[in-house]
Amino acid sequence: MQPHDALVLQDLYHDYDRLRAVDGVSLSVRAGEVVCLVGPSGCGKSTVLRLAAGLEALQSGRVSMRGEVVGDPAKRIGVPPERRHVGLVFQDFALFPHLTVGDNVAFGLSQVPAADRDKRVRDVLRQVEMENYLDAYPHALSGGQQQRVALARALAPEPSVLLLDEPFSGLDERLREQVRDDTLRLLRRNGTAALLVTHDPEEALFMADRIYLMRAGRIVQSGPPQELYYRPADLFVASFFSRVNEIRGVVRDGHVEGPLGRLCAPDRQEGERVVVTFRPEAVSLAPVLGDQADGLNVEVQDTHFLGTGWVVHVLVQDAEGRDVKLSVRLHGRPPKAGERVALRVPSDAILMFPET
Ligand code: ADP
Repeated sequence: MQPHDALVLQDLYHDYDRLRAVDGVSLSVRAGEVVCLVGPSGCGKSTVLRLAAGLEALQSGRVSMRGEVVGDPAKRIGVPPERRHVGLVFQDFALFPHLTVGDNVAFGLSQVPAADRDKRVRDVLRQVEMENYLDAYPHALSGGQQQRVALARALAPEPSVLLLDEPFSGLDERLREQVRDDTLRLLRRNGTAALLVTHDPEEALFMADRIYLMRAGRIVQSGPPQELYYRPADLFVASFFSRVNEIRGVVRDGHVEGPLGRLCAPDRQEGERVVVTFRPEAVSLAPVLGDQADGLNVEVQDTHFLGTGWVVHVLVQDAEGRDVKLSVRLHGRPPKAGERVALRVPSDAILMFPET
């Protein structure tokens, strides 16, 4: 543990009856760091967050904040949530409907003298650009405004760490991007350490300094966004962040034969079944000149306009003669369906994993 870690979770386990929801999770959030815990729905993310906050009784493991142990059942330590110095933001904002915006934000400031409390409420509402709504009630606010008040309320007591559970999921898509951006800027400006739970890979890539990717109660990989995207530990990680093309093959003499040629498979065992992957944006297509194709000569199946670019589908055959549909992402105008093109994939964009 580093002395400056805002939050450290060590070896957490959690069972609901006979279901193991959290299976040996360890993670840390350093001071000023925004960390995303991401994974498919039901993999145990919210439970981890609730264990960190003390909202769920810890069964096994240890939770520390700023170097102080706040949860450790083996030592009978269980600091209640209100004394953990955590700020909480949930998907449904959870504002008190009978309190004004100002009183909602003041709610967690009972320890602060009244005169300072007012100033703090105004300051933090100014930061989220909601100072003009001090006397408004939550029902009179839009979803985005309620989210900003929820954020202000969580930040007002200057928590050691902010815990956010799917905080943007309740917002429509256009608003979500704006509120995400504003939230990130605010966290950065205040140097607030944050652990954000999301099922949305793009949100994790956008927000995080570091990502922990969870699957079935376990952390499968952690690191900066680019590391998980470009150096995924397995096929699950690779395909979680964006669609990947997959071609199956078998290792023979340290190589895998397939439509992309004979690929080196130095770390794989003889006879092992593997999946060769690459992302749609890594592929390039060039015109075929005469009967010369500089790359794999393929026919375009269909093309789809996506606004930000095009997706093109081509059909290839794997080493066992099975058809495999590949996706290609292009920015410029694509070739037409039925045209033959030369397909190329740079070798550093190709990853190989054991078949699962
Ligand atoms: P996530 O946040 O990744 O969607 P959760 O932590 O909410 O996952 O849930 C993990 C697993 O535990 C799921 O299978 C879920 O159905 C189960 N679960 C969550 N909360 C409870 C509960 N209070 N009682 C029983 N099972 C629960």
